[in-house]
Amino acid sequence: MARYGLVIDLDYCIGCYNCQIACKDEHVGNEFAPVAKSQPTFDHFWVGIEEVERNYSDSRIEVTYIPTLSQSKNLLDVAKDGEVYERPDGIVIIDPEKAAGKKELLDACPSGRVYWNEEANVAQKCTFCAHLLDSGWTEPRCVQSCPTSCMIFGDRDDPNSEISKALANGTAQPYNPNETDPSVHYIGLPSPVVSGTVILGDCDECADGAVVTLLDKGGAIANQSTDCFGDFLFKDLDVGKYKVKVEKDGYESNIAEIEVESDVTQLGDIILH
Ligand code: SF4
Ligand code: SF4
Repeated sequence: MARYGLVIDLDYCIGCYNCQIACKDEHVGNEFAPVAKSQPTFDHFWVGIEEVERNYSDSRIEVTYIPTLSQSKNLLDVAKDGEVYERPDGIVIIDPEKAAGKKELLDACPSGRVYWNEEANVAQKCTFCAHLLDSGWTEPRCVQSCPTSCMIFGDRDDPNSEISKALANGTAQPYNPNETDPSVHYIGLPSPVVSGTVILGDCDECADGAVVTLLDKGGAIANQSTDCFGDFLFKDLDVGKYKVKVEKDGYESNIAEIEVESDVTQLGDIILH
């Protein structure tokens, strides 16, 4: 028996919303007993796209698109009467009959992707398109519709599956650390970064090609050259203390101690003299 999971590589998610539209196309107006009643046309986003904008410098802003959906086993903890169950293949289902009137399920999902269907009087969420998998499909509609193939769906217990290989290198993380035994993981979640801009003090120009080295207490851990805007950016850091050393021929090197915080640590302009 497969144990299904999903890895989403955010470096390749372009925020096109195809996955959300495909989910609507599959579930609005279609009832798939016993796993789901029809999804309402409006206000339900069983897969929703969060947009995280991060400002690295005056010339560099990046947006990370994070598709989130609920396959959270946290729902099992609040479901006392069998209204939520986990199938042998790991898919978490809200029973559309037993869950009638159970609004408390809305608060149980860390990603907030459980929705209330007023007309059907039931909480609803992603089913991993269990009805399709049960009829022989190898992936849900949203995964099939993704133009960049950044959604990797499959059997986590099969060591040869693409998803097992994606999970094996340890870079994929759950979106919410409070989730119990998550089956959805992400590559490229926003992580602590350090950014800055190097300026040549004698001419007040951006320093193209200055060498910037990031050091921790063990020595240099990364270096790079500034771009034509004088910008540099170190990603995927841990929170903590570092040093940044900036060098360019003809100028005194500049070294500063910095404290990297959990989001973006902007060092601003670093002037070389
Ligand atoms: S797996 Fe199916 S139900 Fe879940 S978000 Fe994708 S299309 Fe919607
Ligand atoms: S379809 Fe793929 S690329 Fe488009 S928003 Fe969804 S996950 Fe991202």
